[in-house]
Amino acid sequence: MTDGRFATAVNCMDGRVQIPVVEWLKKQYGVDYVDMITEPGPERLLAEGKDRRGIGSIRRRLQISVTRHNSKLVAIVGHHDCAGNPTDKETQLRQLSNAGKTVESWNFGVRVVELWVDEKWEVQRLST
Ligand SMILES: [Zn+2]
Repeated sequence: MTDGRFATAVNCMDGRVQIPVVEWLKKQYGVDYVDMITEPGPERLLAEGKDRRGIGSIRRRLQISVTRHNSKLVAIVGHHDCAGNPTDKETQLRQLSNAGKTVESWNFGVRVVELWVDEKWEVQRLST
């Protein structure tokens, strides 16, 4: 058993979004730690479903977080000025929604939320 409550974030690798996402999740959900799964623009990867290896890698890492750290919440994160997914915000938000559906389809029994990190590096929740 591990002490402390964990959540999980499927976040961009971008160094500007790590701390805002960790702090927001700790504050909003009262968790002690956030397991971080990073990819460049993970919302596109999960929404498009083309990179099976990449998706499998995210799934395996999430499974470790859920089974070993008992995480009950996974946040999928997209952000402003993403070098890994250089498209418009509208497309990113649509991808985030579809990425959330992909993660929900894995049936890990976790709550899935989608987050947007804006140009001020502030976090907004897109789903309930
Ligand atoms: Zn990014």
